[in-house]
Amino acid sequence: MVSAAGEAATVRVRVDRDACCGSGNCVLTAPEVFAQDDGDGLVLLRVTAPPAGSDERVRRAADLCPAGAIQVT
Ligand code: SF4
Repeated sequence: MVSAAGEAATVRVRVDRDACCGSGNCVLTAPEVFAQDDGDGLVLLRVTAPPAGSDERVRRAADLCPAGAIQVT
């Protein structure tokens, strides 16, 4: 699997917008992967297969999410 950045991806990330409370922690932690909807403030994914260099930040974002809305596999 290759990410949009052309770097081999090692993880897949999914988000549950129904669980998201719009805290924005994930965007602060890994802005290359997560964004917030301008309308409802809920999480949006920029990529589902982040570049390998983002792995640690993606996992940290999942750990920091107060809603448990980020799944990394
Ligand atoms: S950290 Fe969790 S609750 Fe906050 S915006 Fe991201 S997915 Fe939503």
